[in-house]
Amino acid sequence: MSVGELADICRTGDINYRFSSRSSAREGIAAHKKIQKTRPDGYFSEHSVAYQVKCGCFGISINGRVDGFSMSDDIMLVDEIKSIRVNPEVIPEYVLEQFWRQACFYAFMLASEMDVAEVLVRLCLFHLDEEQEYQLEQLFSVGELTFKFAEAILVLVDRLESRRQWRQIRSKANKTLSFPYPNYRPGQRDLAVTVYRQLVTSGQLVLQAPTGIGKTIGTLFPALHALEKTGKRRIFYLSAKTSTQQMAEKAAEQLSGAGARIRLVTLTAKEKICFNPGLPCDPDYCNYAKGYYDRVNLAVREMLDLQDHFDRDSIERFAKHYEICPFELGLDISQEADLIICDYNYVFDPAVYLRRYLKSQSFESIALIDEVHNLVDRGREMHSVELVSSQFLRFARLIRSRSPALANAGKIVSRALLKLSREDDLFVTGDFFLLNEPPVALTSLLHKFCKQVEATLLHHNSGTEAPGDSLSLYFEVLRFLRIAEDYDADYVTLLQRADDSEVRVKLYCVDPSNRLAIAFDRLSGVVCFSATLQPTRYFKALLGIDNSAHWQELPNPYPREKLHVAMATYVDTSFSGRESSIEALIELIDAVISSRPGGYLVFFPSYSYLDATYETFAAKHPDTHVVTQKPKMTDKERQEFLDHFDGDVVCGFAVMGGIFGEGVDLKGRRLIGTIIIGVGLPGLSVDRDLIRDRYAEDGFKFAYQYPGFTRVLQAAGRVIRSEKDEGVVCLVDSRYAEIGYQKLFPSQWQPHKVLSATSLRHSLADFWVGR
Ligand code: SF4
Repeated sequence: MSVGELADICRTGDINYRFSSRSSAREGIAAHKKIQKTRPDGYFSEHSVAYQVKCGCFGISINGRVDGFSMSDDIMLVDEIKSIRVNPEVIPEYVLEQFWRQACFYAFMLASEMDVAEVLVRLCLFHLDEEQEYQLEQLFSVGELTFKFAEAILVLVDRLESRRQWRQIRSKANKTLSFPYPNYRPGQRDLAVTVYRQLVTSGQLVLQAPTGIGKTIGTLFPALHALEKTGKRRIFYLSAKTSTQQMAEKAAEQLSGAGARIRLVTLTAKEKICFNPGLPCDPDYCNYAKGYYDRVNLAVREMLDLQDHFDRDSIERFAKHYEICPFELGLDISQEADLIICDYNYVFDPAVYLRRYLKSQSFESIALIDEVHNLVDRGREMHSVELVSSQFLRFARLIRSRSPALANAGKIVSRALLKLSREDDLFVTGDFFLLNEPPVALTSLLHKFCKQVEATLLHHNSGTEAPGDSLSLYFEVLRFLRIAEDYDADYVTLLQRADDSEVRVKLYCVDPSNRLAIAFDRLSGVVCFSATLQPTRYFKALLGIDNSAHWQELPNPYPREKLHVAMATYVDTSFSGRESSIEALIELIDAVISSRPGGYLVFFPSYSYLDATYETFAAKHPDTHVVTQKPKMTDKERQEFLDHFDGDVVCGFAVMGGIFGEGVDLKGRRLIGTIIIGVGLPGLSVDRDLIRDRYAEDGFKFAYQYPGFTRVLQAAGRVIRSEKDEGVVCLVDSRYAEIGYQKLFPSQWQPHKVLSATSLRHSLADFWVGR
């Protein structure tokens, strides 16, 4: 482990965003070089040190690089350089203690290589904005340094010993673990065997597996066995949606019910789990930040004594009990987890990925990536960022009474953006302007803006009004600057003029594959899976998967006769034809849902289309039980919507690509049909057009058609969820008759073209008869 990690084990004090490192890696390296250059001859920079210690059954190796050292008259001087953005006097004691701890560990390791009795340890605090170095010095005997180092090693050994004991318990239970059901579903055993084989040999597997074969437990079960076999530290179960994460939790519970021992932690986004949303993570504002590091170790120990599974609710409960931050507690207890269930961003987002587990070349983590078709668009989002001029004006208004100077800084950025929007010669393509480089003048203004925000926030007095919302803009600007540093040919800069008073600037990662590939490389053994990975060349081009990855399609084990696919090409779903075809659509919906009692989902291309149809449908069929999706539904509202599907006639109106398009698992009569209106195309946008332009002849397909059809397949995949399920999918759009779409149909489908509601009724009656 690294010296920094060893020092972290002994950390005390508060969570304090003001003193977490806000310098970028590039700034930190530059600061180190600057200081090292000022040192006299005989000074050694970036000297590698390593120390091995055997303690009981543990062989521990600590590695690191001393920033700089020199020897004179038997005194060794060791420098530890830290970049700061605050006046050193305001740095709290516990933060300095952490700096000293790290410096002393380096000094101890270096002293062990050389024959010295004392070491002069120097903290060099380099103020990035003032470009000034502040020095603090302390003389330590080697005995004192040894004591500090040994203290930390003992804490580490204690932790390793408790992990060793847990591993013994886990191995004993899991080595003999059987599949938790009497039988595998059709195709599920093949899935499990394929996953196991891949994970024990590392590498990457991309698996297209049909819906309804039980992918969650079919991948988790072999992954647990692979964990035992390979000795890897943990499994990540990654997904884009809370609903799929809940399915993984349920599968883990089933495995535990069958005798498995798994320490499971579900990570929840900070915005969702925070007890004080909107407040800064600072002991002056949030009680749960105060003394966090003084209490968290005890909390984690006691939690592990009580239970194995920690979902969001239980993390919140324990966090309340110990009065500590639930978000950080989740991260800290995940260090003891065998299975971490979380969103993709904990592995793929450059700003929030879990560095503690994903160091390059450490290869300790296996990953199961569910619904991986989502990773392309999520990858774009994670690596893109945008700022809007009005955000700065709003910031100025919020902060005006507290700091007129800071409000002015916000106005300056806003004015600079608006000025751009008035330079008509820039906007040669209407209201959009593209650059193939980051906006240099703007980034330099933003750097200044950040400095002013930091200066104001850092010099606040305890108890003053919290910066609240204004901080979120600051963090977004930091993200913008970080991405600007990483900018390359995969990016474009987009300036968009909304109106005379609004301009947005976006650093847009059009091709996320190279960045996703870097994250994949940090994992050892990856299984990506989804029911919809067609056409393969699209995902090969954009997913960032290695060329050597193994791609496999598992055959659909269910008889094709179980699913009836009807193509209603006679309803005009085009934007201009919607109003006139609403009657035909309502008749079609009625034909489907009256063909057999049960649950149905109708997917619309937009909320406006959904609302217009619902209004007319409800007036015409007042007795039909219809529930409708609303924008921005919470997890609770989503569940309430799904609870309506109890096996009786119910019709859910939802939007394509939304929260009901994936991860909905309604078996039997709870869902026996979907009606899919349109071909799922994402809305026309300049962002999508940029993707189209990048991929030349594949452009429309990569930007619109394939992502759209993936939504169609996902929506259709809600019907067959188990070997007993049977049902109908009704595709409503004239484009389904085109060869370009029919080529994308799964081989399992046998579509029946219908040209009227009457022929649809006949076709469905034929399907259901005798079932
Ligand atoms: S509870 Fe919220 S505000 Fe407080 S430290 Fe945690 S994340 Fe930050």
